[in-house]
Amino acid sequence: MDDNCLFCKIAAGIIPVEKLYEDEEIIAFSDIAPQAPVHFLVIPKKHIAGPAAIGQDDEHLLGRALRVAAQIAKKEGIGDQYRLVTNNGTEAGQTVFHLHLHVLGGRTMQWPPG
Ligand code: AMP
Ligand code: ZN
Repeated sequence: MDDNCLFCKIAAGIIPVEKLYEDEEIIAFSDIAPQAPVHFLVIPKKHIAGPAAIGQDDEHLLGRALRVAAQIAKKEGIGDQYRLVTNNGTEAGQTVFHLHLHVLGGRTMQWPPG
């Protein structure tokens, strides 16, 4: 756990969130500033700074995170219609430096993203 990391504190239960899913390795919760009718985040509890910091040992964990995202999307009523986003670096819009998958759905998406 990184003591200065917001999402490590969420994973540890120190900061309360609207939790949608939790197991030993992964937690998912509603985004505090939703950009779509359904917008939640799926994060590994392990501190990984972002997509570029994913190690070989994390491959299984990240594969599971994708599957968990799909399962929650179904549970949240958006079926298999959603956008998965993970920002890497400030230029790409990353503001929290703990890997997270955004799952957005419930409306028609535009392309290209901003
Ligand atoms: P990013 O900008 O890709 O790093 O995404 C960070 C996301 O975390 C943003 O969509 C924020 O709205 C969200 N966020 C920040 N703080 C919280 C919080 N306490 N609970 C839930 N979501 C949060
Ligand atoms: Zn962290």
